[in-house]
Amino acid sequence: MRILLQFPEGLKQKALEHAKKIEKEGNEVLISASPCFGACDLALDEAKAVNAEKLIHFGHAEFNKVDFNVEYIEYKIDAPLEILKDSLTLLEEFGRLGIVTTIQHVHQLGAIKEFYQKEGKSVSLGKPYGFAKKEGQILGCDAGSAATIDKDVDVHIYFGGGLFHPLGAVLNTTKPFLSIDPFMGKMEFLDSYREKYRKRSRGRILAALNAKSFGILVSTKNGQFNMKLAEILKTKIEEANLAAEILVSNTFDFSSLDNLLEFDAFVNTACPRLVNDDSIRIRKPLLSSNELIESLGIITSLRK
Ligand code: SF4
Repeated sequence: MRILLQFPEGLKQKALEHAKKIEKEGNEVLISASPCFGACDLALDEAKAVNAEKLIHFGHAEFNKVDFNVEYIEYKIDAPLEILKDSLTLLEEFGRLGIVTTIQHVHQLGAIKEFYQKEGKSVSLGKPYGFAKKEGQILGCDAGSAATIDKDVDVHIYFGGGLFHPLGAVLNTTKPFLSIDPFMGKMEFLDSYREKYRKRSRGRILAALNAKSFGILVSTKNGQFNMKLAEILKTKIEEANLAAEILVSNTFDFSSLDNLLEFDAFVNTACPRLVNDDSIRIRKPLLSSNELIESLGIITSLRK
């Protein structure tokens, strides 16, 4: 069988090893060298272009159903758990803990839960929600799992590396939020980000108030494509007597967007993290759909 392999950036270092193994099983193998941002970003066009009969996507669980033969190979990472002992001092005042993590560490949640329970804590795991199919799992764009237990816990804990995933969960919850990074040996309460991101959002809405033309971003990635929303937003902008066009790309390049000089502001319908994490890389305001609606509301009321 002709198979295209796709790896997220962190696993590309093992691409050759996996390719050789799958080749030995009698398959013809090709490797996608494009950037890969998640299971929302399947290399379907590449697979079709090279006549692959199957795409093997490493490192992520299924995101959405697609019309192609895709096998998902999840990647488990056993992170060191010693840091949990040190976290007890920071968690002293909290009795009810909520824990979330990424798909790579979901298999460790049982051990983490047991550790805290032995220390007399009650532990809740986020319920499967939206694109997150497993208990306690969050994605960068779907931290709903943490929100499902917000009312039942005194503190949220994110176990895993980096800031990308916990930040999404922080913004979806209201309780104190401790991030435990077992790789860097670092623990940090992230609550201050809620106010920081709220202020940035306010800034984007105000910056768009003078906009006369909006570019609405639609990504063709399988899990990000949302033409319906883009069309609804275009109609709303036009109803406010402003100009709008839909801008299509697989991966948005911010310097290319900067070249679209006639647009005064952009609206995102692709990966929701573009607005929070990347809007500072573009010269014009980049709004979420909710921020656009708020902006249009203010614009219309100012005209009265
Ligand atoms: S956060 Fe963005 S890039 Fe990551 S899985 Fe979600 S849509 Fe894809």
